[in-house]
Amino acid sequence: MTLGMNNSKISVNKVTKLGKVSCGRNVILKNETERFIEKIKIDDVLGCWVWLGGTHGSSATHNYGEFRTDEGKTATAHIWAYKRFIGPIPAGLYCCHRCDNPLCANPYHLFLGTQKENIADAAEKGRLSGWEKRNGTAKLNPDKVKLMRRLWKNGFSLDTIKRKFFVDTKTAWSVVSGKTWKHVS
Ligand SMILES: [Zn+2]
Repeated sequence: MTLGMNNSKISVNKVTKLGKVSCGRNVILKNETERFIEKIKIDDVLGCWVWLGGTHGSSATHNYGEFRTDEGKTATAHIWAYKRFIGPIPAGLYCCHRCDNPLCANPYHLFLGTQKENIADAAEKGRLSGWEKRNGTAKLNPDKVKLMRRLWKNGFSLDTIKRKFFVDTKTAWSVVSGKTWKHVS
């Protein structure tokens, strides 16, 4: 797996811990970055690092990956990735997704913004979708349907999908759940 980065701070092959498993054999435990990388799947179309591990959050739009660090702390996956691969996050700034996928931990899909910018960004996307809807571009086709299902499978929220495809919640749900467009697989 190539992650497209060359950062001397990352030494994936470094073994940091030696542990024991219940069957009695000595095993070499993987370091933090290796464990992290095993929990992501890179979407070859979107480039998102889709988090496959545990999550936490109050709703689909705020459902974030949860990563246990070597220190035993619980970190939010995309924030951990930003700090590890890009750098520290100054106080008062938020780690926001350019790709709108809360489960994406690709540090290059993230940007730092204030709470205000984060809300403005979301509002902007919402407004655009409204404009597009009024201008009648909400028609779906098999390609769009396939992509919508792919996004859904890869952790994108219904809210994001409906905004990306300029449809309402009901339509988006019917598509991703397979109630409509049954002939498209
Ligand atoms: Zn992404």
